[in-house]
Amino acid sequence: MTVTAAAIAAEHHNEYQALLQTKGFPETKTEVSGMIRQYWSVQEILHEYESVATMDLRIIIPRNLSRQTLENLHAAHQDLTGMRARSKLSVWWPGFNKDLERFLASCMHCRYMGKSQSREPLSPTPCPTYPFESVVADHFDYGGHQYTAIANRFSGWLEVFGDGCGAGNPVQACKDLFT
Ligand SMILES: [Zn+2]
Repeated sequence: MTVTAAAIAAEHHNEYQALLQTKGFPETKTEVSGMIRQYWSVQEILHEYESVATMDLRIIIPRNLSRQTLENLHAAHQDLTGMRARSKLSVWWPGFNKDLERFLASCMHCRYMGKSQSREPLSPTPCPTYPFESVVADHFDYGGHQYTAIANRFSGWLEVFGDGCGAGNPVQACKDLFT
């Protein structure tokens, strides 16, 4: 983001112009006009440079250029840490960190590639070492009847309980099998 681009965008932005015209802040925050109040906490490090405002070493970007600035910062799909590091020496505006996080969360590419969210590692189910140490069960409807299927993971043996024998419900099926 160049200073010139920021200066051009700033020309069409009332809040930004109000900021540039501000010469010193009053004693208390409540005395600051609404548009400028959000700059209160950084007033000590505000400066002007070639028709743009700066906050410390960062160009204050007018809101009408914020979307494009975020897109530039995220051009290579950097993560939050990378984007923050880059912005610390380049750009800022009130609410910048929140906007940055929101923008990153909305990037479909990062979401799809899982860059911004670390995936939970797969944890394989341990193999059983003796019969009925571990079973799997499912409950389903078929032809208007209810069934519970229980399989022994050790051998693969399958038992199916239907409602005809009173074991359509999984709890009854387990009772019938294990007691
Ligand atoms: Zn991305």
